[in-house]
Amino acid sequence: MTEFALDLNDDQKQVRDWLHGFAKDVIRPAAAEWDEREETPWPVIQEAAKVGIYSLDFYAQQFFDPTGLGIPMAMEELFWGDAGIALSIVGTGLAAVGVLANGTEEQIGTWIPQMYGDVDDVKVAAFCSSEPDAGSDVGAMRTRAVYDEAKGEWVLNGTKTWATNGGIANVHVVVAVVDPDLGTKGHASFIVPPNTPGLSQGQKFKKHGIRASHTAEVVLENVRVPGSCLLGGKEKLDERLARTRERARAGGGERVKNAAMATFEASRPAVGAMAVGTARAAYDYALEYAKERTQFGRPIIDNQGVAFQLADMRTQIDAARLLVWRASWMAVSGKPFTAAEGSMSKLFASEVAKKVTAQAVQILGGNGFTREYPVERMHRDAAIYTIFEGTSEIQRLVIARTLSGMPIR
Ligand SMILES: Cc1cc2nc3c(=O)[nH]c(=O)nc-3n(C[C@H](O)[C@H](O)[C@H](O)COP(=O)(O)OP(=O)(O)OC[C@H]3O[C@@H](n4cnc5c(N)ncnc54)[C@H](O)[C@@H]3O)c2cc1C
Repeated sequence: MTEFALDLNDDQKQVRDWLHGFAKDVIRPAAAEWDEREETPWPVIQEAAKVGIYSLDFYAQQFFDPTGLGIPMAMEELFWGDAGIALSIVGTGLAAVGVLANGTEEQIGTWIPQMYGDVDDVKVAAFCSSEPDAGSDVGAMRTRAVYDEAKGEWVLNGTKTWATNGGIANVHVVVAVVDPDLGTKGHASFIVPPNTPGLSQGQKFKKHGIRASHTAEVVLENVRVPGSCLLGGKEKLDERLARTRERARAGGGERVKNAAMATFEASRPAVGAMAVGTARAAYDYALEYAKERTQFGRPIIDNQGVAFQLADMRTQIDAARLLVWRASWMAVSGKPFTAAEGSMSKLFASEVAKKVTAQAVQILGGNGFTREYPVERMHRDAAIYTIFEGTSEIQRLVIARTLSGMPIR
């Protein structure tokens, strides 16, 4: 097991500086334009592909970094550049992780390259789990996948919502119910290949923030996919379902639930790191502004009322990063999340991002309220972190249940 260390090694520092350069020189200058356009920033994704940031190789390298700090470091730097554009760049990675985690080697080799496309023809992928009536309550999912024995195909029906890259993706990863009696344990994930009939984009959402990231409904009407599109394969699914039924009968449902919880605990710090990136961007901007802006004959930072806010902002950002790094290291080291440390990191970092970006707007005064200055956009963007990948309330629920062992509702 790698010891927890706060010092990045030389390789990590090099990657961090390279990512920071891309975030500063390519992402940040494009941020206001794509926020206004509310469209996927294809040229920026293509630039990221050219330099190797938009690729499975890059993502896998960070994912398998034995210190656990590769992914949080990458997320922080890219989201420091701009949250909407960064989500357009890493959104495919989130779908790819779904395939990496559950897919066979053949599925990984077939589908992940198609998710990214190539430098001259970049593609994106979408991960579709949420539904209109199943957001926090994943157990209320209704999209059904039924196996057609005769044709060896799965037939998917239902409506997904809030899908990042939904409808514009080359490959969609869709979570559906295969056994309604087993709750979330009766869910399975499917690949929907490019141009499959029956899959269409529903409403595209006009959003408060991260507007350079495409979010839409995905409608599935008698979508037929080959049996090989079930992630992990049918044999593994049948075994898993049989085991789950057996455990449920023997009263061992908790063990199954705990395995799912561990997966969430391991992925949540990455969202915490995105929030740290946005918070740090707003703090950096506000600090420089406060040193330059003069009122009453002196820089506004000369006032404790402003300087103390900046001191608090930086303290909270550093504390958030520490929680994120701790949880990321725990995940990679296989440490049990006995206090829901992954959820803690996501909860704290996302709340910090909301607070710090609001303080940055205040420090910029009237300028902070306009789209001429980036903190206005950062403040809108930060609001997403307490919502997606489990709201702050759901994180608190998970932490409280883990700490108390009680079924708190
Ligand atoms: C921009 C964006 C991108 C997204 N991308 C994706 C994606 O790519 N793929 C995907 O599958 N999903 C995605 N989501 C969906 C996201 O994960 C959900 O929005 C989120 O899980 C919350 O679900 P909901 O919106 O239905 O809110 P609800 O679950 O309806 O919650 C509404 C409010 O009630 C609170 N609440 C609910 N239950 C409880 C409870 N038991 N105790 C206390 N409070 C509670 C919530 O915390 C929240 O404040 C995205 C969402 C957005 C906005």
